[in-house]
Amino acid sequence: MFDLEKILRPHILTLTPYASARDEYEGTEGIFLDANENPLGSVTPKPYNRYPDPYQWALKEKVAALRKVQSKQIFLGNGSDEAIDLLIRATCSPSQDEVILLPPTYGMYEVSASIHDARLVKVPLTQDFQIDVPAVSKAITPQTKLIFLCSPNNPTANLLRSKDIVYIIEHFNGIVVVDEAYIDFAPEHTFVSKLTEYKNLVILQTFSKAWGLAGLRLGMAFASEEIITVLNKLKSPYNINILTQEAVLESINNTKAKDQMVAQILKDKQILIQQLLALPVVEKIFPSDANFLLVKVTDAKAVYQHLIRDKIIVRDRSKVILCEGCLRITVGSAEENSQLTTSLVSFKERTPVR
Ligand SMILES: *Cc1c(COP(=O)(O)O)cnc(C)c1O
Repeated sequence: MFDLEKILRPHILTLTPYASARDEYEGTEGIFLDANENPLGSVTPKPYNRYPDPYQWALKEKVAALRKVQSKQIFLGNGSDEAIDLLIRATCSPSQDEVILLPPTYGMYEVSASIHDARLVKVPLTQDFQIDVPAVSKAITPQTKLIFLCSPNNPTANLLRSKDIVYIIEHFNGIVVVDEAYIDFAPEHTFVSKLTEYKNLVILQTFSKAWGLAGLRLGMAFASEEIITVLNKLKSPYNINILTQEAVLESINNTKAKDQMVAQILKDKQILIQQLLALPVVEKIFPSDANFLLVKVTDAKAVYQHLIRDKIIVRDRSKVILCEGCLRITVGSAEENSQLTTSLVSFKERTPVR
């Protein structure tokens, strides 16, 4: 049985969080002399002199309607990376508790876990980039607090099999984090609807990719109200600034623009795949459920350098486990994609020295 109290670090359970001025009085009307703000306004014409809503309720109401969850099941962070950090901070006592990662995967899980001195337990994906379910099951110990699953996975681009994710959730008494940063590009549905069923499930999504709002820094975590309460206790009081709250609030009304961009990117991805497959330098393109491709090339380092000379920057993943010889390439605009292919056409392999 999942028991959140057993998963949390003992001092987090009893922690009294900082109570901000806006925690103690929740009304919006009145003379506010409680937060030492500047009463005259800001140096701009905008009312930035006031602190933002610490719990972003207006924004959460919109996100709740969009994702069909309760507002109290939502945590908003300065990027999903804030939620990743807080989840580890809440659960892992340094040099004692364990986090299971499935490399190759998103680098922030390892960085965040290392910052908190959590023990890293790495269970590589299988050759076809799926969860090695028996190996993960075997790796779980009483110290395991979190398992990070990324689906679609970065950098491999594929969805993890739903039934494997469900198996892990059902056979682990800690928290399973399913990172769905790329879910808007994927044909399958999100795990958000499973939140009612599983109390140990946390789902991460972000406005950084499909919505095109990476510069605003807004990530979402969906979970039980109990888990969200813990994240709220640990976050810095005003973690989402007014500009971001307002801009995202407005953007959410524009799902149509998001859907159109996603459709365009998916169409351009198919064209790019065809163009890349025709090139001698491309050995293989792995199946992609995201807005990027993992591409095996004949000589990753040389191809990477060649592209840099043409001012085209991709991600060299050739040193990453199971990604040997691979570059990770974001699907760009049609024009960017054709410049990429043009550059790759002109790549000449050096004759191997015998
Ligand atoms: C890009 C990405 C994110 C998004 O991070 P933000 O901090 O929200 O910008 C999260 N997870 C994965 C796997 C990603 O690739």
